[in-house]
Amino acid sequence: MSKSSTRRSPSPKKNTRKAQKFVYAFGAKTDGNAKMRDLLGGKGANLAEMAAIGLPVPPGFTISTDVCRYFYDHGKRYPASLSKEVETAIKQIEKQLGKKFGAGKNPLLVSVRSGARESMPGMMDTILNLGLNDDTVEGLAKVSENPRFAWDCYRRFIQMYGDVVMGVQARSEEEEEPFDAILEKLKRKLGVESDTDLNTANLQSLVKQYKALIKKRTRKEFPQDAMEQLWGAVGAVFGSWKNERAILYRQQYGIPVEWGTAVNIQAMVFGNSGNDSATGVAFTRDPANGEKVFYGEYLINAQGEDVVAGVRTPHEISHMQKSMPESFKDLEKVRAKLERHFKDMQDFEFTIENKRLFILQTRNGKRTGLAAVRIAVEMQKERLMNQKTALLKIPAESIDSLLVPVFDPKALKSATVIGHGLPAGPGAATGRIAFSAATAEIETRKGNKVVLCRTETSPDDLKGMLHSQGILTSRGGVSSHAALVARQLGKVCVCGAGDIQINYEKKTLTAGKVVLKEGDYISIDGSTGVIYKGLIDSADSEVKRVLDGSLKPGKSYTYELFQTVMKWADKHRSLKVRTNADTPAMAKQAVSFGAEGIGLCRTEHMFFDGDRIDYMRQMILAVDEVQRRTALKKLLPFQRKDFVGLFKAMNGRPVTIRLLDPPLHEFLPHDDVVRRQLAEKLGVPFDFVIDRIKALHEENPMLGCRGCRLGILYPEITEMQTRAIFEAAAQVLKGKKKVKVNPEIMIPLVGFRAELADQLRTVHKIAREVMKKRKVKINYIVGTMVEVPRAAITADEIAEEAEFFSFGTNDLTQTTLGLSRDDMGLFYDEYQRKEIYNQNPFANLDQTGVGQLIDVAVEKGKQTRPDIKLGICGEHAGDPSSIDFCHRVGLNYVSCSPPRVPVARLAAAQAKLRNS
Ligand code: PEP
Ligand code: MG
Repeated sequence: MSKSSTRRSPSPKKNTRKAQKFVYAFGAKTDGNAKMRDLLGGKGANLAEMAAIGLPVPPGFTISTDVCRYFYDHGKRYPASLSKEVETAIKQIEKQLGKKFGAGKNPLLVSVRSGARESMPGMMDTILNLGLNDDTVEGLAKVSENPRFAWDCYRRFIQMYGDVVMGVQARSEEEEEPFDAILEKLKRKLGVESDTDLNTANLQSLVKQYKALIKKRTRKEFPQDAMEQLWGAVGAVFGSWKNERAILYRQQYGIPVEWGTAVNIQAMVFGNSGNDSATGVAFTRDPANGEKVFYGEYLINAQGEDVVAGVRTPHEISHMQKSMPESFKDLEKVRAKLERHFKDMQDFEFTIENKRLFILQTRNGKRTGLAAVRIAVEMQKERLMNQKTALLKIPAESIDSLLVPVFDPKALKSATVIGHGLPAGPGAATGRIAFSAATAEIETRKGNKVVLCRTETSPDDLKGMLHSQGILTSRGGVSSHAALVARQLGKVCVCGAGDIQINYEKKTLTAGKVVLKEGDYISIDGSTGVIYKGLIDSADSEVKRVLDGSLKPGKSYTYELFQTVMKWADKHRSLKVRTNADTPAMAKQAVSFGAEGIGLCRTEHMFFDGDRIDYMRQMILAVDEVQRRTALKKLLPFQRKDFVGLFKAMNGRPVTIRLLDPPLHEFLPHDDVVRRQLAEKLGVPFDFVIDRIKALHEENPMLGCRGCRLGILYPEITEMQTRAIFEAAAQVLKGKKKVKVNPEIMIPLVGFRAELADQLRTVHKIAREVMKKRKVKINYIVGTMVEVPRAAITADEIAEEAEFFSFGTNDLTQTTLGLSRDDMGLFYDEYQRKEIYNQNPFANLDQTGVGQLIDVAVEKGKQTRPDIKLGICGEHAGDPSSIDFCHRVGLNYVSCSPPRVPVARLAAAQAKLRNS
């Protein structure tokens, strides 16, 4: 499931070959450049690039990611030649600066920082001021003529090193960080507020106490040898690649563990050497909204970690214009040069040492979705990049944030997080808790907003879901019923939130110590999976308001940005984008988002509403064909009406209609009250209902009587559905407006050619019958879903019958991995922690496993039928990396839920640009 091929760990080279290079210098001599991210990490590559274009970068060197892989493959040891390379590199820095590492006179101090291929801000370890010891601290005091500064650096170094390398940390959640505890105690004793109020003697006393703490905790002395310090720090940084934070971050962003981190060692410059020194972080544009303004903050007389740790409140960067005008001018020049050179918004760190500006790092700045779109569009206008580059710069997901409702960022700051789940339907929802679909409906009719909270949802809940702002479930994965219905409806959804418990009897939702009752407010963020207590204000996006006609296009700059990007995307993509929709409203919305057809209409969703569910249940409970046909007859007009609506909404675009698929028990009521009501409605004894439900029970319904097996067992179902499709098509075609129709009939869960052949006979028979009766010719095709491995590996046989394949990757993932799409909650966290799954296989296509089956099916399908139409309609069809795969493997279209259509359009264009 990894994003790219794995670099192999370096193997020992034979003597005849030139030794492998592990260390790359930057400074007066620079070995690397910005293109070498894989080997040098983003930070190392950009430091090299900045040094090469003449930006003021303190000299240093990068230990490559090859060493990280070697480190983990060889029991945390290093390649034999590394120490020599490091020593040489240190000497080069010494020569450039006229300082000496570990020497009492004019000592060289270095920083040691991580740097992976993709930046992982704050996830790994950093050590500053390395090289200080009891001797060099005096040397630093002398050259800087500032003993206070020297001792301040020393105490900072011992604290960082003690924490990161020697593991002196708080031993429980209650315990205070031990170095901070000593510092705070001293400040209290002296009656001072800030660290800067400590004098040299105070700092010396701190150093003594810190060293004693380390000795007490580790039974080791704080190391005095600079080289020993360096190797300790390098080991800790490589080690931090596998700390808990880094693992979590990698999972979130799909970063493969094999990439490894580089380690950057760089000469220290000092922002804490007086009042014309400073340190800060700046963005070349506003990362929150993308506006072209200089954005950032700085602290006078401080080191970098003070800004990050928030020990003092930094000033806004614009403030520097007054406090340090010359440095501000230098900084503005760097800002412009960085953008011109890197052609992207940069997030950079700087230090001013006695009025001299140094740049310590630059990277493409993290940004919100809105900022990503705005920056790309505006940079293209400014001719900093061309249209193709601009398109590739926008993470496809970003488009989504222009469409979904959002929480008010200010309100969010004071909100209480009570749990987390899987982000399954993006956007922000807030409302009163409703534990049942019925309550959700009653409350919304009263004018209240609700969030439907269920352990899991079933088709019974659909109505409640429709009425809710959002859906929260404590079980189920990202392709569970709740998730996929929510996404189709464009509802906010957080699912599988294992850290909350819902008790229907007591009507409580418990999250740790927080207990909420029905009617209490709750807020959920379906983009992040975070659950909050209470009400948080949210609003519809401007783009959605323009699309639904409640806002004029000219009034929204965000809409202009959206339209620009969509236009560009459509120009470049070759994959078509369809939608999964079952109602005319969904279909219309999808068309307004740019859908070019329906790739999956799940007909069973049409049976949930109103009386239909009762007829459906009557059909399921029928004891023989006669009874079944009676119920089906009642369902026919509903289906026909729905298809008429869909065909009209799609106005001649292709509409793929899938015949009944799910295990029938999904339609049956689970609790006795509803079962009793059903018995009454159908005029049958309660016991009859119970007996039939028992008779239909299956141990493994997902692998039981579902999919095409239903239509084979009960051909009258296929007959009714086909009749409804063709009668609807005839009605629309012959209607006053003469709307074109383009139906594609899809048979689910086929694994054998004979299964499809069986269903085709019924479909063609009914189609002919209706067309003859209505005296109309309807162009249609019949195909199948490929959602079990057997279908994929016998695709050549199946293509004899099928005019199209649509990959149902929800089931194909389920059946290939032998993993229930609804039951992975118990072990999923552990699989993630152990990095067995890089990403959730139901959200991001397992390209190496399931992908191979798709590959085989495409090839074999084309062998038999070269013009076979190929699509995908599983949830992966809305996921950008899976869309990239679909493009590469040669599908014709992807079909995703309506709100994902814009993301898919952009991702399809990016796939084309990336792969051509
Ligand atoms: C699938 O299996 O990928 C699919 C689209 O069908 P469903 O999710 O309805 O099973
Ligand atoms: Mg399926």
